[in-house]
Amino acid sequence: ASGYSLMRDPRYNKGLAFTEKERDAHYLRGLLPPIVLSQELQEKKMMNLIRQYEVPLHRYMAMIGLQETNERLFYKLLIDNVEELLPVVYTPTVGEACQKYGSIFRHSQGLYISLKEKGKILETLKNWPERTVQVIVVTDGERILGLGDLGCQGMGIPVGKLALYTALGGVRPSLCLPITIDVGTNNEKLLNDEFYIGLRQKRATGEEYNELLQEFMYAVKQNYGEKVLIQFEDFANHNAFELLARYSSSHLVFNDDIQGTAAVVLAGLLSALRLLGGTLADHKFLFLGAGEAGTGIADLIALEISEQNGKPIEENRKNIWLVDSKGLIVSSRKESLQDFKKPWAHEHEPITGLINAVKAIKPTILIGTSGVGKQFTKEVVEDMASFNKVLYTHIYIYISLRSSQLSFIVILMADLQTPLIMALSNPTSQAECTAEEAYTWSEGRAIFASGSPFDPFEYEGKTFVPGQANNAYIFPGFGLGVIMAGSIRVHNGMLLAASKALASQVTEEHYEKGMIYPPLTNIRKISANIAAKVAAKAYELGLASHLPQPEDLVESAEKCMYSPVYRSYL
Ligand code: NAP
Ligand code: MN
Repeated sequence: ASGYSLMRDPRYNKGLAFTEKERDAHYLRGLLPPIVLSQELQEKKMMNLIRQYEVPLHRYMAMIGLQETNERLFYKLLIDNVEELLPVVYTPTVGEACQKYGSIFRHSQGLYISLKEKGKILETLKNWPERTVQVIVVTDGERILGLGDLGCQGMGIPVGKLALYTALGGVRPSLCLPITIDVGTNNEKLLNDEFYIGLRQKRATGEEYNELLQEFMYAVKQNYGEKVLIQFEDFANHNAFELLARYSSSHLVFNDDIQGTAAVVLAGLLSALRLLGGTLADHKFLFLGAGEAGTGIADLIALEISEQNGKPIEENRKNIWLVDSKGLIVSSRKESLQDFKKPWAHEHEPITGLINAVKAIKPTILIGTSGVGKQFTKEVVEDMASFNKVLYTHIYIYISLRSSQLSFIVILMADLQTPLIMALSNPTSQAECTAEEAYTWSEGRAIFASGSPFDPFEYEGKTFVPGQANNAYIFPGFGLGVIMAGSIRVHNGMLLAASKALASQVTEEHYEKGMIYPPLTNIRKISANIAAKVAAKAYELGLASHLPQPEDLVESAEKCMYSPVYRSYL
C-alpha cells in the first residue's frame, strides 16, 4: 500500500513512530515531520494531553479520536493506564458520551442495523470489512447504564465494551464487532434533538421487534458461524430475559447485565466472606432493584449455595429478598409479577419502602441494583450497621474433668459483624450511596463496593479502598475463555468458574485495605486466569470444540492475547 493509505489506516498507522527505513520502504518521506518518536514517547505525550482536559467528555473524545487514527497506540494507553482510562472509555463517562453521541459524532464506529435494514440484515453484515468476527456486543439502546432509553446513541456502549475486550481480555480488535439495533426510541428529548443520529420514531415492539431480532440472530450465525459470541448489552429487562432464554439453546449468547454482573458480584461476595465470616448460606441478602442485575445476581448466588450445600435451589433462594419499585417482592404479589421475579416471591406480609424492608429482613448484605441514586439513606446504612453488630453468639461450654462433678462454664461471645453494602447502579450519579456515606454512616464498619469507581476514603485515620464491582473484571476474560475453547454454548457452570477465578485473585494485602476485588492494574493476568478456568469448564462440560485441550490453559490464554506494541513493516 502507498504510505499515505498506511498512515490513514488506524490499524496500521504509527504516526511519528514510523522508522526511517519504513518511511523509505512505504513512500512516507515528506508525509511526516523529520522526527522519529518511540511508541513510549507517543504514549507519554498522549497521556499528558488527555490529562490536560478537565472535562471528562473531552477526554473521551480524545481517546476515541486516537482509536480512529492509531489503534495500537489507543490500546497501549488503555492497557498501561487501566485504572485512569477505564472511567473515560467506559462508565461513567461513556454514559455522558451516549447522551451526547449525536453532537460529538465524527467518524462512524461499529455497525448500525435499523428497521430500514429489515430483510437486508445479512447484506448489511457483509458490509463490515472483517470476514472473521469472534465477539459481537449488541445493544438496542433501551436501557443504557442507569440512564434509560438512549436509542441509537447507545452505540457508545458496544464500542466501549469491545475496547475492553481487547485491552483487558486481549481479544484482537479485528475480531470484535460493535452493533446497535435501532428500532426507534421513546426518549422525547432525543426525538426532538436536531443532532440525534437514530430513527425518529417510537420504539417498535412485539412482533415487529421480535422479527428484526430473529433475522439479526440468524444472519449473524449464517455470516460468522456458530462460534461467534453474541453479548447482549443494555437491553431493557422486558426484552433481555426473553432474548437470552430464546437464543441460549441455538446461539452462543451471553447477557452481560444479567450474567456478567452476577459473576462479578458473586466473586466479590465470595472474596468478602474472608472478611465477613461464614459461608454464603449463613448470610441474608436484600436487593434494591429486581431487574436484570438484581435477579441475575440473586440467581447465581442461589446456584452457588446449592453447589455448596447440595440443597435444592428453591430452598436456598429463601435467604435472598428483593425489593422493586412496588416494594418487597412477596408471594401475595405473585400473579402480577414478571416471570423473572416469580422465584423470589417469598412468604411475607407486603412491605413498601426500602427502610421498612431493611428493618423487617435484617440483611447482612445489601445490594443496590435499582438504577436510582441516593436510595441507601443514612437511616438505611445506620440500620445495616446496627443490627450487624452481633451476628453470631458463640456459646462455649467447658467441661471440667478435674472436679468430681461436671461443671459448666458458659461464655457468651459477641462477634462484631461487618455489613456488606454494594451500590451498583451506574453511572456515579445513580449510585445508591457514595463510598463516603457508606463508611461514615456505618462508622467505618461497612465493606463497600460500587459499580462506578469511588476514590479511597479516609475515616478516623484509616484509609478504606472501595471495591469496584465492575463487569470489566469478568466479561473480557470470560469471552476469551469461551473463544479459546471454541465453546458453542454458555453454561452457568462457566459463570461460576469465572467468579471463583476472580475471587481467588484477591490477596491478604488487598483485604487489609477493605478491598474485595483485586486492583485493575493486573487485569490482563486476572483475565488470563479467568479465561483458563472458563475454558477448562467448557472442556469439562463437553462444550469445547477446539481440540485437543491445551495442557496449560493460562499459558495458552496469555499467548493468544493481543499486544499493542507496534509491528515492523519491513
Ligand atoms: P432493570 O432491569 O431496569 O432493573 C431495575 C430494577 O430496579 C427494577 O426491578 C425496578 O423495579 C427497580 N427500581 C426502579 N426504581 C426503583 C425504586 N425507586 N425503588 C426500588 N426499586 C426500583 O435494570 P438493571 O439492568 O438491573 O440495572 C439496574 C442498575 O444496575 C443500572 O443502574 C445499571 O447501571 C446497574 N448495573 C451495575 C452493574 C455493575 O455494577 N457491575 C452491572 C449491571 C447493572 P420494577 O421492576 O418495579 O420496575
Ligand atoms: Mn450493561
